[in-house]
This record gives sequence, C-alpha cells and structure tokens, in this order.
Amino acid sequence: KLYNQVQDLKGSIRVYCRVRPFLPGQVSSCAVGSIDEGNITIITPSKSGKEGRKTFSFNKVFGPSATQDEVFLDTQPLIRSVLDGYNVCIFAYGQTGSGKTYTMSGPKNMTEQTQGVNYRALSDLFKLAEQRKGAFIYDIAVQMIEIYNEQVRDLLNGLNVPDASLVRVASTMDVMELMNVGQKNRAVGATALNDRSSRSHSCLTVHVQGRDLTSGTILRGCMHLVDLAGSERVDKSEVTGERLKEAQHINKSLSALGDVIASLAQKSAHVPYRNSKLTQLLQDSLGGQAKTLMFVHISPESDALGESISTLKFAERVS
Ligand code: ADP
Ligand code: MG
Repeated sequence: KLYNQVQDLKGSIRVYCRVRPFLPGQVSSCAVGSIDEGNITIITPSKSGKEGRKTFSFNKVFGPSATQDEVFLDTQPLIRSVLDGYNVCIFAYGQTGSGKTYTMSGPKNMTEQTQGVNYRALSDLFKLAEQRKGAFIYDIAVQMIEIYNEQVRDLLNGLNVPDASLVRVASTMDVMELMNVGQKNRAVGATALNDRSSRSHSCLTVHVQGRDLTSGTILRGCMHLVDLAGSERVDKSEVTGERLKEAQHINKSLSALGDVIASLAQKSAHVPYRNSKLTQLLQDSLGGQAKTLMFVHISPESDALGESISTLKFAERVS
C-alpha cells in the first residue's frame, strides 16, 4: 500500500484541502456545507435569497476535526522519498488565520499531539536514516529563509557557521532549536504594530545527502517546507504606502507560484519560474522528478466566504 502511494506521488502534484475548526468563542455561521474524502461543498448565498452550492474536488479534504496526526499520515510517503534522492516541496496556502502555521509548525502552546508537519517530517527523516544505518550514511543540513517584498532574508544568519547558513544537524532537536533562532530573527524585522509573518513567505529547507555504503553512490534530496504569506486580497482603495507594496508583492509571488504549478500540472512546455523570487529559489524542486504537496486552508466562517472561494479556485487550478 505504502509502495503504491510512493509510486503515485512520483513526479506529481497533490493538493489537500484543510478546513480549520471554529475557534473558541467564535460566533458565526458556517460556509462549509459538507466534506467527504476528496470533495468540499461551499454554501453561497444567492441574490434571490436561496442558497447556492458549489463543490470542489481535491486529492483529499481534511475536515475541522482532522488531527495533526491524520494530516501527516498522508504526507509521510513524501518524506521517505527525500531519503531516496527526490526533491520535495510542501506548501501551506490560505488567507491569514486559516491555519497555515498550525499545519506546518503547530499551535503556540504545543503538545506532542499538536506538533505540525515540520516536526513530524524531520523526526521521520532522522528515524528512517537511523533504520538505514547499515546501508547508507546520511548527512543532513538545514537552511531557513524568509521572502518579504521579493527580498530574501537568511533567518539563520548571525550564527557562526561557515558556508552561508547551511547548518548541519544530527537530530530533530537540533532543527527545533534552529527553528527557534529563525523565529526570533524573523520577529526582529516585525514592527510593533503588526506581525510581519503573515505577509512574508517562510521556508525551511532540509538537504539530505546519502552515501550507499556498498556501491559508494551518492543520493541527494531536499525538502522545502513553506509557510506562504496570507493570500487575502487587500482593498486597494483602503491601503496605501508600505501595506499596498506588500500586498502587491504577495499577490505577484502567489500568482507566479500558481502559474508554475498549473503549467507543471498541465505538462506545458514553458514553465515560468522567473516571475518571482519564490519560484526562482524552488525551481530545482518544482517539476521534473520532484514532488509537490500543497495544503490549501479554509476558514469555515461565512465572513470568509469570498476568500475561501478564491482559495479553492487557486487550488483547483493547480491540481
Ligand atoms: P495562519 O498561519 O494561516 O495565519 P494560524 O495557523 O495562525 O493561521 O491559525 C489561526 C488560529 O487558528 C490559531 O490560533 C491556530 O492555533 C488556530 N487553528 C488553526 N488551525 C487549527 C486546527 N486545525 N485546529 C485547532 N486550531 C487551529
Ligand atoms: Mg501564520
């Protein structure tokens, strides 16, 4: 079964939709009508006052009660393939507040159960590397960057490391410590007024090099774990200056990412990698034999309906 899943994922793009639960104290009506395996139905009000319904289909839809564990279970085959020498990108897409950081990193007050994809992916990576110890020797290193207004910032900078900021790691704990450093460096750039994290892309990259002890063959794979900037459209008549510039950069880079994945999905001859920093940086890991997984996040509230529909349309286009 697992083998088939891995085969399935080779050189492919998968899109999973995840619907956040209502938050404690939140009172609102729900815009999500129903969810089954791969379909999500959204309730839209219509002019005549009668409800409309629209269904979108993906590789999988996770409802509000899906646990971090369940979400990771369907991600797991990708982790194994990184050790086999494949490049993998895992993206979290959605409007601010829809649960991107929850999926990738987990909530603020973390427990073992609520650890996100990043932690689980890394512990799996180290666990598998350990299991293969007799046959392979693995070298694992990480990088952490942020893209804000089309500018790349190294979040592990300041650590005394040779060779830019590629840091060798030997355990999941090592990576967690580095991620804390990265988070702190990220916060330094934030203004007192508002948290910049929702308006920048953050990317944790794990480089894996494995040497086959019998043949001497070297396998190289890498995994990019990307928490994207919030996809919400801003009202151009309401924001100016810095906020408008940020919004334009986000809009441009998310559509560039959508264009790249859509053209890969359609197997088109030209893939427009050059249109944003994000797609330029990930070029080697998007397309070819690489595997892409996109988590698109939906807030369940009726207030979020417009953004949810635009998120689902984005997701439908890339799947
Ligand atoms: P984003 O990163 O997209 O802006 P967050 O991940 O910060 O959104 O989520 C917004 C809030 O909702 C946070 O308080 C988070 O803990 C909570 N949340 C998101 N997804 C879930 C979930 N699946 N289960 C429980 N709480 C969630
Ligand atoms: Mg976030």
